[in-house]
This record gives sequence, structure tokens and C-alpha cells, in this order.
Amino acid sequence: MKIALLGAMSEEIAPLLKFFKDIKTTKYASNTYYETSHNGTDIVIAYSKIGKVFSALTTTILIEKFRCDMVLFSGVAGAISPSLQIGDITVATKTAQHDLDITAFGHDVGFVPEGSKFIDLDKSLIDIATTVAKVNNITLKKVTVATGDQFIANDKRKEFIKENFKADAIEMEGGSVAVVCHSMGVPLLVLRSISDTADMDAGFDFDKFLSTSAKASAKLLIRIVEEISKERQ
Ligand code: SAH
Repeated sequence: MKIALLGAMSEEIAPLLKFFKDIKTTKYASNTYYETSHNGTDIVIAYSKIGKVFSALTTTILIEKFRCDMVLFSGVAGAISPSLQIGDITVATKTAQHDLDITAFGHDVGFVPEGSKFIDLDKSLIDIATTVAKVNNITLKKVTVATGDQFIANDKRKEFIKENFKADAIEMEGGSVAVVCHSMGVPLLVLRSISDTADMDAGFDFDKFLSTSAKASAKLLIRIVEEISKERQ
């Protein structure tokens, strides 16, 4: 079994590169892939760079070139739901693309023909994440994630996304990674720790909390990887 561990930014995978040993580095398609193995499970780590296009590209490469059997994403997100605080850890039950808009043709926002507004993520991976979090006394909140090629730092856009997608958290990669994984029949887990609340202060909060939030998400991810390798041996 081979597991892909994906982040968007170097900060999101730095804790993973620190934890795993004997890493082999491969350059491909203007990006770097880090291969290792842990307790008999092969692992490929990468950060895609920010946004939907880069994250879709990297996910495709992890599946097609590196032959990964599942993709586990770890990173940070902005909160839309008032019940989420900076530092909370979330797992996505479904994703959508909030900036996908052909409403001029009468379609619902986030929908394109032959696609779907929401993609449900893998139930068994969510269950494993929930169990691992519980065992480690971590509160893991189940959320709907809205993805788009915009850093959201204003209440008006936040409100739009809340209204149209009932989303709890906002980021820039989950929805595109989900499209690739769903199309290729590869299970996906999206873990996100909250770095900001997508309001006026979001840029400032993001810079302040990126490192600690990214670490919290990566730490839980490592425990999930260990549980998956134990279960599937
Ligand atoms: N500071 C970075 C840019 C970060 S963009 C730079 O200058 O290079 C924000 C990243 O964190 C994206 O990968 C996105 O997935 C996530 N994210 C966190 N908060 C977000 C928010 N409020 N809106 C959109 N994405 C957010």
C-alpha cells in the first residue's frame, strides 16, 4: 500500500518531513516529491503550491506517476462557521468549489454539467480519523469545506459562501483534490486546522497561526497514517 501525504504549502508538510526518516527526493513537473516508508507502508509526501490548479496537478501525479492508493491532505483553513475557533482541527465530510460559477446559464453556483456541487469524501477514512482523534483526546470537527482560488478575508464573501454552500471552513485546495480523487476512484481525507476566521484580520491571523495550526493537523495525520498501516497489514 502506498499513501500520499499532501499539503499546499511547505509549512504544511514540514512537520511530516521532520518526522519520517530516510527520505528520497524526486523532482518531477516542477515540483519535489519525498518518498519514504514507515512501518512497512510506502509514503509519498508533497506540497502542491497554493490553489486549485497546482493541487489538482500534484494529486494527479501522486496517483498516476507514484501510484498512491489514497491521498491524505493536511493543512490550514479559514473558519466560516462561528462554532470554529482558531486552532480547531477539522475533517471534511464533503467539499465544493465556491468560485465555480456558470449561473448565467441557470445552473446552481458550484455546479458544472457532468460534475456535482458537492463531493462526499471517503467515509472509512473519516471514521479512522475520528477514532484516532478520540484515542488521542483531540476534538475533531466534521465540516463542509468550500474551496476557491481566493484567500477570503472579508465578511461579504464569507456570507455568500455560507449561504450558497452551508460551508463551515474555507480553503484553496480541498475541492480540486477531491475532483481528481473522485474521478480516479482514490479515497481522500482532508484534515484542516483553523488558522483564521476569513474576516478583516484573516491575513494577520493566518501569518500568526500558520505554523502551530499546520503542526497540529500534521501531528494528527501522522497518527492516522500509523493506524492505517496497522489496519491494512
Ligand atoms: N501567506 C501565503 C499565502 C497563503 S494563501 C503566501 O504569501 O504565500 C492561504 C492558504 O491557506 C491556502 O493554501 C488555503 O488553502 C489556506 N487558507 C487558510 N485560510 C484561508 C482563507 N481565509 N481563505 C482561503 N484559504 C485559506
